[in-house]
Amino acid sequence: MFFSKSKYCGLWQCPKIAWLKKYKPEEYVIDDGTKSRMDNGNIVGDLAMQLFGDYNEVTTYTNNKIDISKMIKKTKQYMLDGRDNICEASFNYNGLYCAVDILRKQDNGYAIYEVKSSTHEDNYVYIVDVAYQKYVLEHCGVKVTGTYLVNINSDYIFDGTLKLNELFKITNVWKFVVDEQKEVEEKIKMAEKLLEDKNEPNIDISCSCNSPYKCGFWKYCTKHLPKPSVFDLYRLNFSKKIEYYDRGIISFDDLEKTGWFLGDIRNRQIEYALHDKGVYVDKDNIKKFLDTLSYPLYFLDFETQQPIIPLYKGTRPYQQIPFQYSLHYIETKGGELKHKEFLGISGEDPRRSLAEALCNDIPAGACVLAYNKSFECGRIGELAETFPDLQKHLYSIEFSIKDLLDPFKYGYYYKKEIGGSFSIKSVLPAMFPDDPSLNYHNLEGVHNGGEAMSIYPKIKDMSPEEQKIARHNLLKYCELDTYAMVKIWQELERLVNE
Ligand code: SF4
Repeated sequence: MFFSKSKYCGLWQCPKIAWLKKYKPEEYVIDDGTKSRMDNGNIVGDLAMQLFGDYNEVTTYTNNKIDISKMIKKTKQYMLDGRDNICEASFNYNGLYCAVDILRKQDNGYAIYEVKSSTHEDNYVYIVDVAYQKYVLEHCGVKVTGTYLVNINSDYIFDGTLKLNELFKITNVWKFVVDEQKEVEEKIKMAEKLLEDKNEPNIDISCSCNSPYKCGFWKYCTKHLPKPSVFDLYRLNFSKKIEYYDRGIISFDDLEKTGWFLGDIRNRQIEYALHDKGVYVDKDNIKKFLDTLSYPLYFLDFETQQPIIPLYKGTRPYQQIPFQYSLHYIETKGGELKHKEFLGISGEDPRRSLAEALCNDIPAGACVLAYNKSFECGRIGELAETFPDLQKHLYSIEFSIKDLLDPFKYGYYYKKEIGGSFSIKSVLPAMFPDDPSLNYHNLEGVHNGGEAMSIYPKIKDMSPEEQKIARHNLLKYCELDTYAMVKIWQELERLVNE
């Protein structure tokens, strides 16, 4: 048997994960959230190696594949040599494998430092992870004298020189690990039994599927569900959905038959999915919303990057840094639709030039529409705090923002194609199913905020030609976001006036 610590930690979430990873690995779906956690983990892991000064890393590849046996040999040699900090220190006890992020020599033994890219040290699966490592190391004859978690310190503010001892916070988790270690042997025995059996374990979906993260086998384990099901309902707590599922109330038919009141919006979602009811329009409330808008009318959307390791002076880990905006605007009723935009220079701090451009492009107090305005308001508020000389103007923009999400969020407009999400990527194709100019799939290179976030920092390392293409793609993507808002607003106007 070969058993890794990720398989072991998977057991803690749900034993079926380990079985599926062995027998049906092709069913595992790596979504954007998982991919970004993996990327973040690699960035933070590489940086944390320097946390205690000089280090020796054992990671070895042979023919582009990780070579565990060489890593184990190197680890043994480095320990014999008395090296202080061994990174990715690798051990195997009877097929139980683990690589310790940092194995640090102490007076009477070694301490395990487990590095996490998260800012929260209180996730119990981290304890489970370290307890497994301690078990493997001790069975390989290593005296473990300390166990620590290394997390990102969310309060750290970058002053221009990266200070690893401030960026990382270290938590002693010895007491919890010792308690948890009592479970390791039992869990491994259970895993062995489970993995020997070729029959899929009879484990149904539960709250574990979403804790601590949405399981990569969710699609596989829910293929028996009707479409739509209780899991497609708008903004219902996951544990509540599982509660309905456990009671056998799964399809929208089941939900409708119960006659329960799930709130206006969810009840409408069920009703419109089951019966051919066309478009729901609450003209009075849409009109009330539209009457709060005035000219000149601006449509604003930001793109941001979120570096884990702060890049710019005065910023924190994971801070959202706006690097781009698109701005459509109409000066007077019936006036021409115009467009302005800003895109920072990759590799430079974009905030000052973006804040100045924003103040030039939007007059103080003008009416601005954003889609899910808390995001744009949050970024403008942060810019205002960073640049006191622009504060008054920026705050006036922030306070004048209205939310185009409101008519959807409050249930003034609905059609079944929207489903259970009111994001612009759900509302737009539902409102304009046949307009290719509004289809994000028809864009080149950048189709969503995640792609924009990932491409922007890479531009600085591209050739001039590639830079031109990447910048063009970013501008076109962001422009479509605000153009989509204009189209949605126009459609709402049309509906109340027809
Ligand atoms: S989706 Fe749920 S039931 Fe299926 S393997 Fe994952 S946690 Fe287990």
